[in-house]
Amino acid sequence: MKKYLNRLSEFRILAKKRGLKFRIIGTVRYARTYPLFRIDWKPAKWKKKILFAGVVHGDEPAGAWGIKKYLQGSQLPRDKWLTFFPVVNPSGYEGYKRRNDQNFDLNRNWLAKKKAEEIKAIKKSLKGERFSVFVSIHDNDWRENEDFYLYYYGNKTLPVQIVTEMKRMKVEIDKRKGIGGVPAKGGLVYGSADGSFEDWMYRKKKAKIYIVPEMPSKVAFRKEVEAAKSIIEVVVNS
Ligand SMILES: [Zn+2]
Repeated sequence: MKKYLNRLSEFRILAKKRGLKFRIIGTVRYARTYPLFRIDWKPAKWKKKILFAGVVHGDEPAGAWGIKKYLQGSQLPRDKWLTFFPVVNPSGYEGYKRRNDQNFDLNRNWLAKKKAEEIKAIKKSLKGERFSVFVSIHDNDWRENEDFYLYYYGNKTLPVQIVTEMKRMKVEIDKRKGIGGVPAKGGLVYGSADGSFEDWMYRKKKAKIYIVPEMPSKVAFRKEVEAAKSIIEVVVNS
């Protein structure tokens, strides 16, 4: 199986078809070799930059498929520069596991001294760049039977709009008053300092707002992907 390389070539073809820039930003070598890629949509008159990431945890595929679905069918904006890292963790994706082949959790060591190669490559690629919003799409834990929720930091307007959109799509919102030891309300969880991709982006002032939607993996995957695509649209059109 070469799942990851298949995804990569699909994204390369899609980028070309829609006039987006596709770039290899580095390569990681474990049992297999994985080129890391980045995609950019940069209209001439962009006013706002938005960053999207998916599959930071290898067993959470909704982000990559949501981004793909967005790039396939949605109207691309004339005033926003969009950057995508559809698969942050290729070896985890290949093996359908949370961590990468070196046993790094790629959402925990962005601020650590010893960093995974994937993180080094993405940081290098983002050097000198700042974004209005950063969205990192995850899947929540099906074993816990969780409904939709999101972590956020910064202004609440956009997170609330996303929850409204999920309700419109009849995606159940998590009703718990606390998630992972943090207070939660109406599916909104204020982010925490955990050395994650989003934590790094916010601390380094590379994003004014971050949003981490936890897509409910208990619903049909098609619906999960459709919901992830809609979240991208809400953010892009905000
Ligand atoms: Zn995750």
